[in-house]
Amino acid sequence: MGKIHIMDEWLSNKIAAGEVVERPASVVKEFVENAIDADATTIEVFLEEAGLSFIQVVDNGSGMSEEDALKSFARHATSKIEKEQDLFRIRTLGFRGEALASISSVCKMTMKTSDGQGGAELYIEGGHIKSQKPAALRQGTDITVAQLFYNTPARLKYLKTVQTELGHSMDLMNRLALGNPHIAFKLVHNGQVQLQTNGRGHVQQVLAAIYGAHNAKKMFEFTGETNDYKIHGFATLPELTRASKNYISIFVNGRWVKHYLVQKAVVDAFHTYLPIERYPIAALFIEGDPQLTDVNVHPAKHQIRLSKEPELLQLVEQTIRAAVRDVVRVPLAAKPK
Ligand code: ADP
Ligand code: MG
Repeated sequence: MGKIHIMDEWLSNKIAAGEVVERPASVVKEFVENAIDADATTIEVFLEEAGLSFIQVVDNGSGMSEEDALKSFARHATSKIEKEQDLFRIRTLGFRGEALASISSVCKMTMKTSDGQGGAELYIEGGHIKSQKPAALRQGTDITVAQLFYNTPARLKYLKTVQTELGHSMDLMNRLALGNPHIAFKLVHNGQVQLQTNGRGHVQQVLAAIYGAHNAKKMFEFTGETNDYKIHGFATLPELTRASKNYISIFVNGRWVKHYLVQKAVVDAFHTYLPIERYPIAALFIEGDPQLTDVNVHPAKHQIRLSKEPELLQLVEQTIRAAVRDVVRVPLAAKPK
């Protein structure tokens, strides 16, 4: 007899969880992205102890039927892609069909969901469905996670303080709110509201909710386009800077991404206007044909490969530089509204 056998699904899910589910913020990310993909217009996140003991995400999106709810926990279960060509025109945030399978294998999870007609209430522990009943409630999904990593003690040990873990979730929610100004987000930690946006579609309102109205007022707007890319966004004047580049948020077709060269183009646009080692707060939105942007680089999907990158970098740098020159020449206070 050979020595090789195929792992059972539960074990392979748990291994996959090690890759994608690093900390409470990873769970928040997957759930909130699912809510966004389900066209929710309000998404509320409740955390206790930064999510170490409790995470709840409630959305008013499409919800699921009982049949889909049961399927959604299987590995590679997704409603978002069907065939290979779909990979090259991804418009949803998720597509790997792994999140629910992985997360549910390392916690105790309850999911209540309804598509407006049917629905289900499921309780899953360590990847196994322990109870299920039909439930028809308001359309949407309400999913809770208790005792994250209760069965992976090594992962639990690696987690940082409540403050650090909360910081990760807050950064994430800030970015998701910025990338989706038409969705009303709420983040509540230990009963206290940390972030609340109104979902009316104004990036300035989200910037004010995150950085304070006072700081948001000190930001200028920029827009520009080439044949392939359209950009717009907001950045702070040289008078309001931060010691880290992390306050520069970049979105490609609504998805937050890390892109070193685009970030550098934003900083370079300020040229000599920035004090040494200081960086602007900025939100940059890039729109382009999904075929130009490959997100399937890493499971967390933060990295992206861009076609026609030099063209885009030049667009970013020139657009922001022109806008900076404009506002520096005309002091903001003197600028007509
Ligand atoms: P993916 O998002 O990559 O498709 P997930 O494991 O995150 O994989 O979710 C599996 C499927 O479950 C999704 O494709 C979607 O059909 C469904 N689903 C998950 N969360 C929600 C939600 N909040 N509302 C509606 N459907 C959801
Ligand atoms: Mg998903």
